Amino acid sequence: MAPGQKRGQTIKLESSPRCPSCSELLDGATGLIADSAPRGGDLTVCLYCGAPLQFTEGLGLRRLTPAELAGMDAEVKHDFARVYRALARRPARRPPGSKQ
Ligand SMILES: [Zn+2]
Repeated sequence: MAPGQKRGQTIKLESSPRCPSCSELLDGATGLIADSAPRGGDLTVCLYCGAPLQFTEGLGLRRLTPAELAGMDAEVKHDFARVYRALARRPARRPPGSKQ
C-alpha cells in the first residue's frame, strides 16, 4: 500500500459467512480503499487459507473458479497480489481453538 493511502476500516459481516475452502468463520472484512463495505460480487481473500473468494448477494462467500481467476483483468490481479503481499507480512493467524 502506498504511503498516505487509506485502507478501509474492518467491517463486521452480519452474515457470518464461512470460507468455502477451509470452513473458517470469516465475520469481518477490510476493504482495499477507504469507506468501502463489501457488496455482492466483490472479491476477497480468506485470511486463513488464502482462497480467492467472491461475495454473493447475501454476503455469503463462494470460491472463484480457475476460469474466473484466469480471466481477471490486470487491475484485479494487481489487487489480489497486493492482498497476498500484505498477508505474507502478517504473523500467522490461527483460529481460536485450533491446534498448533
Ligand atoms: Zn479459507
